[in-house]
Amino acid sequence: MIQTDVLVIGAGPSGTVAAAIIKKAGFKVNIVEKLQFPRFVIGESLLPRCLEALEEAGFMDALNEKKFQVKSGAKFVRNNEICDFTFEKQHTDGWKYAWQMPRADFDFTLANECEKQGIPVAYNQEVIDIKIAEDGSSITTIKEENGATYEIQARFIVDGSGYGRVIPKLFNLEKPSSQPVRKTMFAHLTDPRRLEQEEPNRIVVYVHSDDCWIWTIPFSTGITSVGFVSSPAFFDKYNGEPEQMFRAMLADEPALKRRFEKADFIFEPRTLQGWSATTDTFWGNGFVLTGNVTEFLDPIFSSGVTLATVSAQTAAKLVIRQLNGEKVDWQKEYTEPTNHGVSVFRTYVNGWYDGTLFKIFFADNKSEQFKEQICSVLAGYVWDMTNPFVKNHEKSVRTLAKYLDSTKTEVS
Ligand code: FAD
Repeated sequence: MIQTDVLVIGAGPSGTVAAAIIKKAGFKVNIVEKLQFPRFVIGESLLPRCLEALEEAGFMDALNEKKFQVKSGAKFVRNNEICDFTFEKQHTDGWKYAWQMPRADFDFTLANECEKQGIPVAYNQEVIDIKIAEDGSSITTIKEENGATYEIQARFIVDGSGYGRVIPKLFNLEKPSSQPVRKTMFAHLTDPRRLEQEEPNRIVVYVHSDDCWIWTIPFSTGITSVGFVSSPAFFDKYNGEPEQMFRAMLADEPALKRRFEKADFIFEPRTLQGWSATTDTFWGNGFVLTGNVTEFLDPIFSSGVTLATVSAQTAAKLVIRQLNGEKVDWQKEYTEPTNHGVSVFRTYVNGWYDGTLFKIFFADNKSEQFKEQICSVLAGYVWDMTNPFVKNHEKSVRTLAKYLDSTKTEVS
């Protein structure tokens, strides 16, 4: 039987960040990953805050070498109205950029770095069972590609299995999300007219209609990721094969019709539905959940990888302390800060879908100070309590929206 200090389930951003930080503290770490990398996963735009976690994990040199598209801000467009956030102009003194990149390449880079740091990454190996003893040590059963199984004994488990949600499923911890079911259809496309755009490499979110928004995420490879997000009913209006449907959807968006009319698909458009999920608890005897396994809300503000890597960074430090014999208050030191980050984003996600944020984003009378404070939230600095749009997130957003709405310039 393989014996290790920490077993990490999943080689996504949360698993690899946690693994690398724990390994640096001198512990033996093993990663078990269900798929062969590089593998596709959606989530292609990062926020500056996640670079802090990637730096602590020792991944920055390798990532810089990849020359991914630098993301210096984000633009929101509704017809002719534009709201542009630039990370240089933000309240929090943090990173001023992030990246836009295909996740297959990004995640494989992180996993390769783990291997270089001496962490074995076992691909094509699926965790199918976990037994935890009273002292928190565990025996995990792994299924290999050929169906054979073997066991790993560990002192502690980090579950970074993302949409796999291994521990919540095995231990019946699943809880319905507060978010309604939404659906996406997305693809990677060539972008022959990218250079005709005003800011060709900027990530842009288009408000397509009351219940649909679109992302365009240009990569440094020349390929652009495009995705429609809406209620499932929106997609029922379109018929045919996925590519035909996607072309019809693009043709219905004036801002994208011309840009992509001659574009080729790198892969057939894919759909995903009902991605929001959460659990009863973020930790238990001998384990901690990180990344998407804790809670995933919605893609609108690109918060997924940031919440994944920051939760992994926080969890890793607590695992190190616990393995060193210190007492850890997991509820206070892990669940509360992790939940806080999620709940700040929840305010902004809900504010996007109920229209409150539109009153702020597309107001022409908003002050620079408020904009910089909101920009820091959108940069992922959702633990900076000096920012009123973090500390009193719900009240600040509602109050500002109401104020801007009541003082807006009426166009006659
Ligand atoms: P993952 O990246 O999912 O990695 C988990 C790994 O665990 C996988 O490789 C999986 O194969 C492995 N695994 C699963 N089950 C098992 C098992 N039984 N045994 C072993 N291994 C297992 N986030 C952003 O930051 N920016 C975005 O722009 C963005 N856009 C999104 C758009 C959409 C439509 C959706 C749905 C999500 C988006 N996200 C975005 C969210 C992002 O996809 C996730 O938050 C992020 O991938 C979470 O990272 P993770 O490490 O927790 O999990």
